[in-house]
Amino acid sequence: MKKTLKDIDVKGKKVLVRVDYNVPLDAELKITNDKRIAATLPTIQYLLDQNAAIILLSHLGRPKGKTVPEMSLSPVSARLSELIGKPVKFVGGDAISEESKKAAADLKAGEILLLENLRFHPEEEGKNAAGEKDKAAMDNFAKELASMGEVFVQEAFGTVHRAHASTVGIVKYVKDAAAGFLVEKELKFLGEALDNPQRPFIAILGGAKVSDKINVIENLLNKVDSIIIGGAMAYTFLKSQGVNAGTSLVENDKLDLAAELLKKAKERKIEFLLPVDHVIADKVDFTNKQIPEGAAVKITADEAIPEGFMGVDAGTKSIEKFAQSLKDAKTIVWNGPLGIFEIPEFAKGTVEIAKIVADATDAGAVSVVGGGDSVSAVKKAGVDKRISHISTGGGASLEFLEGKELPGIAALPEK
Ligand code: AMP
Repeated sequence: MKKTLKDIDVKGKKVLVRVDYNVPLDAELKITNDKRIAATLPTIQYLLDQNAAIILLSHLGRPKGKTVPEMSLSPVSARLSELIGKPVKFVGGDAISEESKKAAADLKAGEILLLENLRFHPEEEGKNAAGEKDKAAMDNFAKELASMGEVFVQEAFGTVHRAHASTVGIVKYVKDAAAGFLVEKELKFLGEALDNPQRPFIAILGGAKVSDKINVIENLLNKVDSIIIGGAMAYTFLKSQGVNAGTSLVENDKLDLAAELLKKAKERKIEFLLPVDHVIADKVDFTNKQIPEGAAVKITADEAIPEGFMGVDAGTKSIEKFAQSLKDAKTIVWNGPLGIFEIPEFAKGTVEIAKIVADATDAGAVSVVGGGDSVSAVKKAGVDKRISHISTGGGASLEFLEGKELPGIAALPEK
């Protein structure tokens, strides 16, 4: 077990906290969703209660090692200050400048400092100023960051699948390190679902491509009792069984693999549920995410899709079938939409599943939802408060489901 916040002494200490404040900004640089900031408040409040001085480290966007003023964390410091009800110091410019270091050195117990976007430095992501891979440069940057505090808290679940200076390198240069409350919660829910699930354990996977989720499916086939596949991915599986998929988004080079995965599931007696009917359309405007004028939209009678049509959402019978299976579930992991969720007319299957997962949770299941679209769906369905755990890290939670070691977690010391 990795050390968590309450295992380390932070009383009166200068604590470096890696957070994930990679929030969406609009054209006027206003934060359009502050959930990532809000999610860190319990850890920050605990550190304040412990009389610590808090130095927050984060990235925002992909500035690729250059200073990009539009990707400054300045708006974040203002929002954090509103949320926590205290001033948050922000130097700007450069996270390891003399000015930043002085601000860190002068920081008193109970004060908060946010450093500028770490990814303005190529070293954060393991490169040097010339853009070449450079471990020594990364290590040096990690050392500079570490020199500003005494202990380190990893609270950026969304970034723990990256081996960066502020997620891995920094750990060896501090006196002690631990997972913050948010990371601890992620590890608890995702870890227990995978390693010690209450059964039946059902995974729901949706989204665009089988190729993105092969490793997740492979790993889950060793863990789950049932797997539900929706979204465009389902059409590759159906076609691999000789079912007509029309013009659906099929990965023709993955047909053998899909057939192989279905065979494996059968051998292991894992229930593999695919849609049995579909909402179909003859045209979809993927660029503007809308149904083009004059397009025909209908629902199929069975799993086959007629020529000239593509599957865009799970049909009513499919949702009923999935609901039947989910109602007895004791553990549910869900990642990815069951249809072209961005188009409201094709979001129904995904929103319905969100409600079904919430009902199953009310009936005693532990539910873990990850991935941007599934998280939006549970919000859209108004059931987010009825889900056991909503993961804050899309990529990290997928890598966790793949069974991969997350570098930012692996780097933390054991209890
Ligand atoms: P992912 O990032 O792999 O979770 O995929 C999410 C994307 O899958 C969303 O943009 C959805 O619009 C898309 N998607 C889901 N179902 C379908 C479908 N039937 N056809 C095309 N795209 C789909």
